[in-house]
Amino acid sequence: MSAPLPVTWQKGIYLPEPALWLDAHGGQGLSFVSHAHADHVANHRHIVCSVPTAHLLRERFGFTAPITALEFGQPWEHGGHRMVLAPAGHVLGSAMIHVTRLADGESLLYTGDFKLRHGLTAEPAQPLPADTVIMECTFGQPHYQFPPLEEVRAAIHRWCRDALDNGSVPVLFGYSLGKAQETQALLAGEDLAIAVHPAVAGMNEAYEQLGVTLPPWEKYIGDSGGRVLVFPPNTVRSTPLRKIKNKVTAMVSGWA
Ligand SMILES: [Zn+2]
Repeated sequence: MSAPLPVTWQKGIYLPEPALWLDAHGGQGLSFVSHAHADHVANHRHIVCSVPTAHLLRERFGFTAPITALEFGQPWEHGGHRMVLAPAGHVLGSAMIHVTRLADGESLLYTGDFKLRHGLTAEPAQPLPADTVIMECTFGQPHYQFPPLEEVRAAIHRWCRDALDNGSVPVLFGYSLGKAQETQALLAGEDLAIAVHPAVAGMNEAYEQLGVTLPPWEKYIGDSGGRVLVFPPNTVRSTPLRKIKNKVTAMVSGWA
């Protein structure tokens, strides 16, 4: 039997044999970046990530470091190991990395943030079998049971419709990357007009450039006009929202 791939923790997960960091927090040498959420991204000397994540890092966040951008399933050999990315289903471009030691075939899968239920705006997760698995476990405890997506979608529609019928402005909060787009996709086909915060608008454009179809949306410019607003959670106390006296708000985390 071959020995497992060594894994160390040095303020981040590190695989010493291929000299590869996994979502390292501080700037490091070579690091895999599983997706473009801020808590997974840092200024490394060399980044390996999926093609959509590379697009987001360069176009939306202005990264200039060298990036090895891999298609899902496209093998890349480095330091005596073969790396393959698989979709993680968390946000567009989110990836797991599968590492195989070429000498003996010993393998490891690092999931990053992942979601097994199919989303509307991210590639469906496709975990690969491996000898060692390092995984995010936010909802790993078996007592977490979530309602079916259709139920959640219907509840969100009803909530928005009730708010509009009552003359209120419904505001849905979701992270500008990924969760806001998923929220908009959930609203599709319900005859609900959508206006989004500028940060969400920028990310919507990036998603559309990457081939994702979103329902019609416009950038919020101070007039809600019977629309559902989709804003990032950190704008909850911002001036534009404070000005809307008759709003009702809800958070759509999308984590599960
Ligand atoms: Zn994330």
